[in-house]
Amino acid sequence: MALNFELDINYIEGDTVSCQGVDSHDSHPKVFLDLTSGGVVACPYCGAKFKKK
Ligand SMILES: [Zn+2]
Repeated sequence: MALNFELDINYIEGDTVSCQGVDSHDSHPKVFLDLTSGGVVACPYCGAKFKKK
């Protein structure tokens, strides 16, 4: 389970990332997520996980 959690993270080049859904690109309103904390940030709509590279 721990390994799967790591594989689910999307690594992003930059301080912010926009998400509109994982499976479909318009599955929820577009949101911008702040990655400057350096930790894993989860999208509040679809739960996709992002982390700064
Ligand atoms: Zn999302």
